[in-house]
Amino acid sequence: MIPVRYKNSFPSSEIIDNPLDYEDGNGVSSKERKGHMLWKKVKYQLVEYHSLPWYLRDNEFIHGYYRAEWPLKQVLLSIFKIHNETLNVWTSSKVQDGYKASLLSMEFLSTLSGNIMERLTNCLIDRFTRMYHVVDDSVLQQGVKDDVSNMIAPLMFHPITRWPFFLFLGGAMFCLLASSTCHLLSCHSERMSYIVHRIDYAGIAALIATSFYPPVYYSFMCNPFFCNLYLGFITLLGIATIVFSLLPVFQRPELRGFRAGLFFGMGMSGVAPILHKLILYKDQPEALQTTGYEILMGILYGLGALIYATRIPERWKPGKFDIAGHSHQLFHILVVAGAYTHYQAGLVYLRWRDLHGC
Ligand SMILES: [Zn+2]
Repeated sequence: MIPVRYKNSFPSSEIIDNPLDYEDGNGVSSKERKGHMLWKKVKYQLVEYHSLPWYLRDNEFIHGYYRAEWPLKQVLLSIFKIHNETLNVWTSSKVQDGYKASLLSMEFLSTLSGNIMERLTNCLIDRFTRMYHVVDDSVLQQGVKDDVSNMIAPLMFHPITRWPFFLFLGGAMFCLLASSTCHLLSCHSERMSYIVHRIDYAGIAALIATSFYPPVYYSFMCNPFFCNLYLGFITLLGIATIVFSLLPVFQRPELRGFRAGLFFGMGMSGVAPILHKLILYKDQPEALQTTGYEILMGILYGLGALIYATRIPERWKPGKFDIAGHSHQLFHILVVAGAYTHYQAGLVYLRWRDLHGC
């Protein structure tokens, strides 16, 4: 018997009775075999909202193109098919590739800058010694080398640490990977849905928490007390959010606004260190420039949370944005734009501290 939820998608044209019914060696009739194949085909049809099991009912304004309880193999292959999660999966995974590329290029640049400066230092020493014909004077050469090293080495051989910036890139990649995984696999089963949604919430909390690390670390690296205070606060808040999101009640559709509010509130707690930075460094152009980026980031994240909570535009025209243009895709785009703005701010911080130190 076909469960009620699949009846809508039954392809009636395929119900053909075979008059030549025979049994194979295992005692399975061709009718049964055909029925089994047809059942498999029917099962992997996209279904409508009202046919979904309760745990997949999240947004009643998206009417169709749902996958429901497909086997894992079919779910994984559905990454190449059109359904209402296709763009959600691909927007996350493509941007994640972008972050990976920037992480690699950052590492490449730091290695490259080290090499360039090593050559520059050697070159300066070489030119200096040639200019004064003191090639054989090893004492003077050593003195020049020490002077050049003292001028350049603090910046080149001991550059400002990059770990807060890399941690942010790692947090952003984890968030996007978790998001892709969640959108791809959550339709498989109730248990899978529960697990991947937990990973997704953990990814969002990780992105927000690690977003604090570059601005707080580079703004307060000369004030370890405030640096540790702000970083400790956001780390604890991130852990608390992840623990809280483990509760099954956290995923209920009616708590969508609460979830958006919690993550937005987490982001808004960044206002305190930003204001503090402005008070400390009001004369530094980099402090103003990074604050500009941070305001833009707040607007993008805030708009994303608002769209996520209100489910605009599909609320206005239910069923018209099932494949493309629904609120969750807009939310993804705005989060990615926010994280990119933050990345640009991070580069300004690095340049600032590399040039001026504490
Ligand atoms: Zn998502």
